[in-house]
Amino acid sequence: MIKNTEINTPFSVQNLVRKTILNMKSYSSARDEFKEFETNMVFLDANENPFSNGFNRYPDPQQKLLKTLLAKQKKVSLNQILLGNGSDEVLDSLFRAFCEPNHDNVITLPPTYGMYGVLADINAIENREILLTKDFEPNVECILKNVSKNTKIIFLCSPNNPTGNSFSDESILYLLRNFNGLVVLDEAYIDFSSKGSWLSELDDFPNLVIIQTLSKAYGLAGLRVGILYASEEIISVLNKIKPPYNLNTSSQDIALKKLTQNTLTAQVKKIISERESVVKSLQRIEFIKQIFPSDANFILIKVDDATLRYNQLIQAGIVVRNRSNQPLCENCLRITIGTKEENSQLITTLKSL
Ligand code: PMP
Repeated sequence: MIKNTEINTPFSVQNLVRKTILNMKSYSSARDEFKEFETNMVFLDANENPFSNGFNRYPDPQQKLLKTLLAKQKKVSLNQILLGNGSDEVLDSLFRAFCEPNHDNVITLPPTYGMYGVLADINAIENREILLTKDFEPNVECILKNVSKNTKIIFLCSPNNPTGNSFSDESILYLLRNFNGLVVLDEAYIDFSSKGSWLSELDDFPNLVIIQTLSKAYGLAGLRVGILYASEEIISVLNKIKPPYNLNTSSQDIALKKLTQNTLTAQVKKIISERESVVKSLQRIEFIKQIFPSDANFILIKVDDATLRYNQLIQAGIVVRNRSNQPLCENCLRITIGTKEENSQLITTLKSL
């Protein structure tokens, strides 16, 4: 067990929240004050245009229908859900609710999703970067050694972007048990993973925050719907700072329809089987030095010269992501799994280089 004398206070949401947020009164919108807005009433309360066009009314600020469906499907309570304009918005809300600018810090584990660091910068929060190990696992000992009394959040991305692997359950569990701030587990790619979500553990860990999104497996990146699951206490803090109408009417309606149809599995199965066949084809290409195992809808590969190969692909009309500037990712390209036709175009091009 790691001893860190700076962190001996027990976990408490109230102790973690920024003082101004703790003491503030949140904005109460017209639609918040009168909640039964779906019934047939005369609405003269929100300064809307009265002429119907499908969008003249403000959307439901509580996103009740969407949350009710998600709660049922994911077996959590409605009050354990926060919805945002993409997961980037809910991630940002964690900084604004829990991190005191120019005072607190968070821990991120490069190479990982770049927005954690960007959001730290935007919110004037120190970002303590602890590299993943060589096999892309969290270095738990080093992470806990770097925790101070002002460390509010540890960001874990599993399956991790850009490496594609899922973190071991032991590492996640260890951090949940030994860190008294928030452990944010970004499960953006969980539907492509052979490992299950940590959502079923939510009630056992008051410091666990899980982020999911409709942008990947659900195929709704353009709709912008991100989901944060946490304890009711954490959600009620985040609700205090949520912009009242952060999920527009179309996003709520279309997300509801898509989640009801439940077409997720067929597409996900196709993407996973394409991933396996792309890996097989990549193995036969000489300048590809390493193909990292993937639990996501993309593959990280190490090539002889990433910038050269990236530019050659661009010339052939194929855009991948050059991740060479990330630590541990020298000469690495991240390739998203496309349709069968797109993938074979990629493989044909790579073979011809
Ligand atoms: N988390 C991870 C790990 C991601 O890779 C991404 C997007 N690339 C996001 C979150 C953001 O997703 P959203 O579209 O929901 O904002």
